[in-house]
Parts: sequence; structure tokens; C-alpha cells
Amino acid sequence: MVDGDGESENTDGAADSSEGEASSEAPDPGAAEPSGEPTGEPAPGPEVPEVPGGELASNTYAGPLGTRNHTGTDAVALTFDDGPDPNWTPKVLEALRERGIKAMFCVIGAYAEANPDIIADIVHDGHTLCNHTWFHQFDLGTWGEGEIRANLRRTNDAIEKAAPGAEVKYFRHPGGQWTDRAIGVAAELGMESLHWTVDPSDWDNGTTEAEIRDIVLERSGPGSVVLLHDGASNQEDMLGALGAILDEFENRGYAYTPL
Ligand SMILES: [Zn+2]
Repeated sequence: MVDGDGESENTDGAADSSEGEASSEAPDPGAAEPSGEPTGEPAPGPEVPEVPGGELASNTYAGPLGTRNHTGTDAVALTFDDGPDPNWTPKVLEALRERGIKAMFCVIGAYAEANPDIIADIVHDGHTLCNHTWFHQFDLGTWGEGEIRANLRRTNDAIEKAAPGAEVKYFRHPGGQWTDRAIGVAAELGMESLHWTVDPSDWDNGTTEAEIRDIVLERSGPGSVVLLHDGASNQEDMLGALGAILDEFENRGYAYTPL
């Protein structure tokens, strides 16, 4: 069901600003079935506000509602969402370790609480962390400020408990369903809102390894923020594609930044 609507929105070659996020992976907290969910079209057209701050490229904040969707340099950022997952995250960490690549993990608070050792491993390996809400609530941005704040704080607290002192400098809204309110609360809590440049819908089991590889390679360039998932349902295709993606990125001479 939830998968279904994600799928229908993504069948026509979704990438960029289209919403392409795992949806069914987060166990339903039993509370509200997200009502302000993917049905209403998210992804407002890109706006490019004037961004102060010299060295960042002018298109650094061209994501929905002025969110960041570019690293600001030529270095590429690999971002892995919806973990930590006890099965897939260690495999991703191993692949990155072999190549000495630092990436970003956008984690779900409840999973961080359940898998503190993996959070500690992520930090130990030199990767960065991003708050992806407590339970992947797609409609978070429609909540009241206090509720949003509590959700994001709870997530950061779980991270802090797993990896004391680890910084969480970024926030990524589930499904890219940004609202000004969510962006504002995240900023109050010291987190920049990070969208993405390239989305191969790797969370969707209908996306093959070859499709993931091809979409990422075709649409990535210097400065891209690449959206992948270490925690969705079955990330075998993503992992299969990852080696080929990193090989080609190496051929192109890309450097990496964990932001
Ligand atoms: Zn997600």
C-alpha cells in the first residue's frame, strides 16, 4: 500500500526533486496512518535563493524550499537513508571502508535506539550523521512546531546515547516532503536541511541493480548529493550497484565529502 503510492510517483524515471523515499520500512507506530502523506504532491519547484557565503556554488540550495541539494564543491556526497539496519548497514560500512570513503547516514531515531552499536560504528569510521526523524514520519512537516521539535530531539538524543558527542548537523525530511516549519525547527536545533541531487529509487524492490547503477551514473556529476538507502526492505540491489558506481566515480576522479 504505502509502497504502491511511492511507486506510482516514481515510475516515470523519478529522480531529482521527485519524492523517492522508502515508506514501508518504518514499522507503524500504531498511531496515525500518515494522512498528509505522499498523495498531495510534494516537491515544490526548485527555488534558488541568494546564498551568502562565498565558496559554495550558486546552486547549492536549489532543493525544494531552498534546501541544500549540492555539496557546494566538486566533491560528491553519498548519503544512506533509513538505517541503521543490522543486516545492510554493516555491509555498506565495509564497502566504504575498503575504499576509504566517508559518507553520510540519515538515520531513523527508533532504529538508532535499537542498534546503538551500528551508530557507534558509523561514527567510528568517520562518517557523518543526519536526522531522518524518529519513525520516518512522512507528514512530520505538517505537525505543530512543538511536536516536530520533540521528534527531532528524541532522534538526536538516541544518537547521542549511542555515540556520545557525535554531531548531527543535517536533517532530511522523509520523502523529501519539506515544509518551512520543519526546516525552521531543524535550523533552531542546529541542523541544516539536506535534500539530494540524484535519487535512483533504490528503496523500491522494483528497481533493479542495473537501473540503480545507470540512474546514479547518468545523473551524477561533481557536487552531487546521491540518495541511497542502507535501510529499506531489501537493499541487495543497491549493494550490488554500489561497487560499480564507486568504480566509475573513481574513473571520473570524484572526491567524496561526508558534508
Ligand atoms: Zn527515508
